[in-house]
Amino acid sequence: MRTEFSANLQHYNTFGFAVKAAELCHLETENDIEIFASQLDPDTPWRVLGGGSNIVLRDDLPGKTAIMALQGKKILEATDSTVLIEAAAGESWHDFVSWTLEQNCPGLENLALIPGTVGAAPIQNIGAYGLEIKDVFHSLKAYDRHTQSWRTLFAKDCHFAYRHSIFKEEPQRYLVASVTFALQKPWQVNLAYADVLQRFKDLPAQDIKPRMIFDAICEIRRSKLPDPQVLGNAGSFFHNPVVDEKTYLQLKERFPQLVAYANPKGWKLAAGWLIDQCAYKDYRRGQVGVYEKQALVLVHYGEGTGQELIQLAQEIQAAVQEKFGVTLSIEPSILP
Ligand SMILES: Cc1cc2nc3c(=O)[nH]c(=O)nc-3n(C[C@H](O)[C@H](O)[C@H](O)COP(=O)(O)OP(=O)(O)OC[C@H]3O[C@@H](n4cnc5c(N)ncnc54)[C@H](O)[C@@H]3O)c2cc1C
Repeated sequence: MRTEFSANLQHYNTFGFAVKAAELCHLETENDIEIFASQLDPDTPWRVLGGGSNIVLRDDLPGKTAIMALQGKKILEATDSTVLIEAAAGESWHDFVSWTLEQNCPGLENLALIPGTVGAAPIQNIGAYGLEIKDVFHSLKAYDRHTQSWRTLFAKDCHFAYRHSIFKEEPQRYLVASVTFALQKPWQVNLAYADVLQRFKDLPAQDIKPRMIFDAICEIRRSKLPDPQVLGNAGSFFHNPVVDEKTYLQLKERFPQLVAYANPKGWKLAAGWLIDQCAYKDYRRGQVGVYEKQALVLVHYGEGTGQELIQLAQEIQAAVQEKFGVTLSIEPSILP
């Protein structure tokens, strides 16, 4: 296991905050995971990172920080109805999606261009353009710190919901080493999302190919979201809040333009719209701000701190609470 001390994390988080990790351990094998886990004691703070695209580094990280760097991917099994594909936790998610298409195994293309690693994808049940990990998930292999043994968790064990899983309920219990996906055959195009449907509406379904969906989604995403290589960000910073029918109707009466979608639990409000109405879109304070094209995305201009970003996020939360009576919750994990 390769270990660095007082390591700068600027290139390990997509906000680009230049904090230091007291001890940075690069986990490249399952054995490294076991060694890392065996070194943890109750007095040592620790955490595991993938690509750092869903975290805010507020300050230097004490204790031990693991970077999940396991590599490898393979087709495990293919029947007439399903293909099972396994990828190691440290693989880049986007590169993995692209590779599955090269292997003629479509089904993940709607999740193209989401930054981060394969191992982190189940943690918040990543989702975009009408698909969530839970829809294509078979199982994962994780080291369970409670039992100090390897476990296989299936979908029913993972408690998947919108941006949620058991890994959020029991943080720091599991270290995910690999994930297996079950892709259905024959492939069926997923045009659930309006922007994608619009692009393909004039084409007969049989003429639409998986790579066309992949390319379209990459193009749409690039037009809407800042590239973290250019402008630090973690994608959507707040969850879209879900409110009950009564609250929705009251809000709709007060704000007829309210953007909301029916949801099994009530109504999902567009958090970006709520923030926009509080005049925070394209707002900048020093080295942090709100993205000019999408109020849901907070950005870092290069010389700021996670603390400054959190302060701005709290101010936005307070403004939305005051105007709409709605609580916005923060999506990325705040460390330490
Ligand atoms: C431009 C941009 C667009 C985005 N768009 C989307 C989107 O459309 N949909 C979406 O759902 N998300 C989106 N995200 C958020 C992010 O890309 C995903 O949540 C991604 O899965 C995070 O992966 P990561 O490897 O960077 O995880 P990290 O940020 O490193 O970690 C995230 C969390 O997972 C835990 N973790 C990471 N790896 C492991 C592991 N192997 N075992 C156990 N725990 C682990 C960490 O401890 C942390 O709590 C976007 C982010 C950006 C920057």
